[in-house]
Amino acid sequence: MTTGQDLELVSLTKRYGDTLAVDRVDHHFRAGSYACLLGPSGCGKSTTLRMIAGHEDPSDGSIVLGGADVSWLPPAKRGTAMMFQSYALFPHLSVSDNVSFSLKMKGVEAATRREKAGEMLELVHMTQFADRLPDQLSGGQQQRVALARALITNPQVLLLDEPLSALDPFLRIRMRAELKRLQRELGITFIHVTHSQDEALALADEIVVMNNAVIEQAGPAREVWGAPKTEFVARFMGGHNVIALPQGHFAIRADHLALTNAAEGRLDGRITGVEYQGANVLLTILAVGDQEVSAVLPEDQFFENPMQPGAEVGLSWKDSALHPVSA
Ligand code: ADP
Repeated sequence: MTTGQDLELVSLTKRYGDTLAVDRVDHHFRAGSYACLLGPSGCGKSTTLRMIAGHEDPSDGSIVLGGADVSWLPPAKRGTAMMFQSYALFPHLSVSDNVSFSLKMKGVEAATRREKAGEMLELVHMTQFADRLPDQLSGGQQQRVALARALITNPQVLLLDEPLSALDPFLRIRMRAELKRLQRELGITFIHVTHSQDEALALADEIVVMNNAVIEQAGPAREVWGAPKTEFVARFMGGHNVIALPQGHFAIRADHLALTNAAEGRLDGRITGVEYQGANVLLTILAVGDQEVSAVLPEDQFFENPMQPGAEVGLSWKDSALHPVSA
């Protein structure tokens, strides 16, 4: 059950001189959801996050949390907390003191601070490290401390800016699961900025795809991946082709294309590449109209009738596999 507060961005805008970093963004983040802001570098994700956190003033528009306009409140008064990419731990303070630092600023007495920090460290499974200094911890452990430090303020919304990008691939996948667990346990809203499609798909209840300072598409992960609305989203999310047909442009999943004999499909082409991927085989096909198309076949199916580059083939699909996309 969720008792949290919804977060609304209303025509939120940020200009840096002539650069429009965020352009009249409207969005409603549901209380208790895990949202990922996803998009290429420079599209405005971090700026949006920093405005929500209060680390950046909006040029226009507003940020509304639980019905109250928080656009001009200082970060600590908003009900949000931010976890930074660099963790930004104080090197001379113990783990416990790092975690309870904001309580010290509020004048909370030492015993209560220690107790609260203990609860937070338990939540992130770091109890036994309470008295260490940050440089005696691994990257993953420092990150848990940074999380505990953000969560001790009891935020309605936790903001995470590329939280996994400093970790090695193995740890990244472990911490990803950990973030998901924490969000579920706490039931608060997480807004997580990432440029990784895999990360967003693995974590998000809702994916918000940004491009050029605006939201291109937002929705449940399966919907954004499975039914992209624009050519950009189809290409950016991956696993799709955008094909031009007489009726317009359509996205179709690479694993929803089937191969036929030449002239027996809906589009003819020639195989230009065959890549074995283990469970699947990825075929690159140059189709009529100079369109490069990818098809993914289960490996057992491919090897029943293996094909080589140069082979002429047809491509077919079910009507329901086509999604019209705008440019
Ligand atoms: P993302 O997080 O998606 O990579 P950012 O929000 O960091 O993108 O940046 C969006 C745009 O705003 C970019 O063009 C970037 O160069 C510009 N920008 C970001 N921060 C500043 C700043 N402090 N001063 C000037 N331009 C900035």
